[in-house]
Amino acid sequence: METKIVRINRDNFCEEELLEAADYIASGRLVAFPTETVYGLGGNAFDETAAGRIYAAKGRPSDNPLIVHIADAGDLSALADDIPETAYLLAEHFWPGPLTMILKKSRAVPKATTGGLDTVAIRMPSDKIAAALIRLSGVYIAAPSANTSGRPSTTRAEHVIEDLSGKIDMIIDGGSSQIGLESTIVDLTGEVPLILRPGYITAEDLANVLGEVQFDEGVLKRSATEPVVAKAPGMKYRHYAPKAPLYIVEGKQEEVLDYINAEVAKYAAEGKQAGILATEETRKLYPEGLVMCAGTRENAETIAAGLFDTLRSFDETGVSVIFSESFADNPLGTAIMNRLLKAAGYHVITL
Ligand code: AMP
Ligand code: MG
Repeated sequence: METKIVRINRDNFCEEELLEAADYIASGRLVAFPTETVYGLGGNAFDETAAGRIYAAKGRPSDNPLIVHIADAGDLSALADDIPETAYLLAEHFWPGPLTMILKKSRAVPKATTGGLDTVAIRMPSDKIAAALIRLSGVYIAAPSANTSGRPSTTRAEHVIEDLSGKIDMIIDGGSSQIGLESTIVDLTGEVPLILRPGYITAEDLANVLGEVQFDEGVLKRSATEPVVAKAPGMKYRHYAPKAPLYIVEGKQEEVLDYINAEVAKYAAEGKQAGILATEETRKLYPEGLVMCAGTRENAETIAAGLFDTLRSFDETGVSVIFSESFADNPLGTAIMNRLLKAAGYHVITL
């Protein structure tokens, strides 16, 4: 299949530029598009065949449900039943934006989209291209992250081309996703709102609006052997993994530097190159090894925005191993470490 690539300037585009993409979605075809979190692989959420094609293109297990994207908060009632007051409160505060809510699904939503569940995940993105595409297509757009299942999510069109070219109908290149981590997911179907996936909108942000929120047990997991099952089906799969084994090194900064530098030297002595996932503050402190910077510790958001891109970059280098600094002390640390721990298969070296 030929994948059409369309470039759109997020800050200066007219609707005509999106009409073909909108028509593709409306007619059951698949279009990858930018959102403020990561790129999404979109198809008509009410079209079971389109949903099936999304799973096939990504190689995604069919029990891993898709998030339905809307352009108008008023559309909640078309997709969900028994909507609690908390959903409207959250929509008022955080939509459009990087928050996904889990609600009881309405009959209109096919189970092909919800991975067989009776609940549905709904988000209203703030990215202007995403919002215009949804509105112009006239349908709700089911869209998981636009990556091959298991690989890091995509934050630039180049990543999408790498994973999905030839497998989908169109890719809209709208530049880099600003946030770079997938949406926060909150489940509103139980008594207490439950965070199933941490993201840019933090537990504190949610608690400020809702009073009480809890984390699903699976979210804060720190080791592969903890016997907890994540409640979001997608969170149980190995994810984000670069090709080389990845180790997170935690401890005082000096100790981390010494440890990583000693390991890098050991690999070098065997003729192997080690990668280092570092920050602007530390990049010069690793004299050997291949250093990639996620961002700067002075601005927490740059690390979130650069994480997936950096993980992907290592795959092009042929390094034998990757050592990463920890970002647990970052204000977005819960979300960043959730992704990084998965990428590392929970391999943490604590000094
Ligand atoms: P992605 O769009 O690739 O970021 O993946 C969507 C995430 O949302 C996955 O982790 C899914 O398991 C989760 N998700 C989607 N729908 C539901 C649902 N109805 N209940 C719980 N988790 C969901
Ligand atoms: Mg994903």
